[in-house]
Amino acid sequence: MTPLPNMHDAEPIPDAARDALDGLMRSGDLFRYTAPKDAPVSLLEAEFAEMMGCKFALAVSSCSAALFLSLKALALPRDARVLIPGFTFAAVPSSVMHADCVPILCDVGTNYRIDLADFEAKLDDDIQAVIISHMRGHTSDMDAIMALCEARDIPVIEDAAHSLGTLWHDKKIGTIGKIGCFSFQSYKMINAGEGGILITDDADLVARAVIMSGAYEHNWKKHPILQDAFGAWQNKLPLYNLRMSNLSAAVIRPQLPELDRRVADGRRNHDHVAKALNTSPWIDVPEKLEPETRAPDSLQFNLVGMDDGEVQAFANAAAAEGVKVQIFGLSTDNARAFWNWQFMPEVPQLPRTKAMLMRACDTRLPARLTPQECEAVAQILVSAAQSTMAPARAYGS
Ligand SMILES: *Cc1c(COP(=O)(O)O)cnc(C)c1O
Repeated sequence: MTPLPNMHDAEPIPDAARDALDGLMRSGDLFRYTAPKDAPVSLLEAEFAEMMGCKFALAVSSCSAALFLSLKALALPRDARVLIPGFTFAAVPSSVMHADCVPILCDVGTNYRIDLADFEAKLDDDIQAVIISHMRGHTSDMDAIMALCEARDIPVIEDAAHSLGTLWHDKKIGTIGKIGCFSFQSYKMINAGEGGILITDDADLVARAVIMSGAYEHNWKKHPILQDAFGAWQNKLPLYNLRMSNLSAAVIRPQLPELDRRVADGRRNHDHVAKALNTSPWIDVPEKLEPETRAPDSLQFNLVGMDDGEVQAFANAAAAEGVKVQIFGLSTDNARAFWNWQFMPEVPQLPRTKAMLMRACDTRLPARLTPQECEAVAQILVSAAQSTMAPARAYGS
């Protein structure tokens, strides 16, 4: 049988990064605003904006920082209510609280996408912004969401941390709402250890975000953004210092040309394993939505007809064969289970989302795996379900 790869390793960083890093080591020029122009962070911003087909990009220290700055740049008042999905990473409600706003959660269905009826019901006159988390790269119905939000003039921030390369009707995810935020943390499609970027077409909004990210004094002059947009904000905004270092940008830039290949490989791997898993009566991999072209580097699936004990037995059986599966709702202190977000002013009841999380499994499936390795992963998962639910047949007796 194909030996299983380490499912957590990222891809090696392209060799091209070495020269840039060497140069930075020699000059010691690590701060984005030291050089008069063409600092790696500025070049990354220009290249990322061009790749995404948007006007402006601001590189920062993480996607969480990008989400926080987005909310601040929207100039929301203290205690503004921000609607977010009940299935996301704890960083999302945390960024809302960091911005002195209040997270309001809506239900998410068994296909990991926002439940539109609950979203519409909660999108009342008190909601002042919406963050759509494309959780694990699953895209909610952006046509319906944008129509509802535009009708009420509510700004939409896309948390595309884990969705770089995904398309919706051939439009790049992160360019549909007013602002898109991406992550360069190691488990995302482009890896700098840490890092994030915010994109938008709104010059005034990005000017505020640039200043608040830490472009103190007149450092904003190094951003190719309509310079008029800045004058009004000089000395008027707090400086949160969430900048990206040149080192991170030098690691990210040579990965941008790799993105299309990683996305294609990740989709190939995902679809291969998904197809195999769907042959099992105890496993369901939900279909993507029709307008969506996915860019997955992990796999989510639901266990069907199992009780809590059987779900745990399935995870143990898969782990014994070398495939680590986490069940969002059953693994201890999971940061994607909303009832663990006890830092929120009020932890809501979302029984439907909770039921989904108690059966939804998560396993990494990096783009660098070969089809043979994917087949081995699929077989382990299918036989773990089989041996849990029908042990006699699994042993052929
Ligand atoms: C990773 C992730 C984040 C946080 O990104 P950081 O860069 O680590 O702050 C936020 N939202 C989602 C959906 C993520 O997957």
